Amino acid sequence: MENVFDLSPGLCNPHARKGFLTWGKLMKKISSTFAIVLLFVTQTTFAQSAKSIKFDSNVEASLKTQMLADLNFMGSITSTHATPLHQQVFGKVDGSNYMKWLTSRVFSAGKDGCGNPNAVACVNPMYANKIWITTNYIKFSHPQIARLSVVYHEARHTETQHSNWSHATCPTPFLNDKGQDMRSIWTNALLQGEPACDITAFGSYGTQTILLKNIALNCANCNSKVKADADLYANDQLGRIVDAASKSAMKKDFQSRL
Ligand SMILES: [Zn+2]
Repeated sequence: MENVFDLSPGLCNPHARKGFLTWGKLMKKISSTFAIVLLFVTQTTFAQSAKSIKFDSNVEASLKTQMLADLNFMGSITSTHATPLHQQVFGKVDGSNYMKWLTSRVFSAGKDGCGNPNAVACVNPMYANKIWITTNYIKFSHPQIARLSVVYHEARHTETQHSNWSHATCPTPFLNDKGQDMRSIWTNALLQGEPACDITAFGSYGTQTILLKNIALNCANCNSKVKADADLYANDQLGRIVDAASKSAMKKDFQSRL
């Protein structure tokens, strides 16, 4: 995420093939295509629970265990309320809803540098339905609900139909309400001029904020620490929305309850 190149350049599709087909090759192609379709169907069906997310072999067992435990918590959330924007993007504030939303977008996870030392995580449009985690994600000591919000931020980036919700450039200077430089809550990196902002409420920062704010406001079975953490990170990530109308609409949404 952030400050960085969620959409890491430089990786290409090694599987592209061109050329004429003989009958034998055609049959082979049909059978392999059929196999791919079957695999896809199997994978789609399989990827309906957090445990079905496939981890690359370079993801440490401890990281995998932590991510699955985080997602297990996410799957336990209950509520009877949501804000209208949350309803629009995620549906109800509800664990099974959150799991379906995530596992219909993320089928696998790997570990990578994401092309920037300040990156926390990223996606690459060449690799559908996959997210990468960097060592920053592993090193940082942010709360569980903040870690989860990173995963949902990246999941939003997997949506190719919206050009992966690529980020806007943060303004220069980029100052908070107190006139101080805006810095990343994740890495403390300076944000001005970086592709680490959004102008829409529906991009990765906006939806991450909507998710966090709804957990802060509406989660029925979260303890006070989880709610306080969610609120703190929601308020910070709201600062990444640099379009005044979008930010104002989000603030108004957080005053509403369905
Ligand atoms: Zn991002």
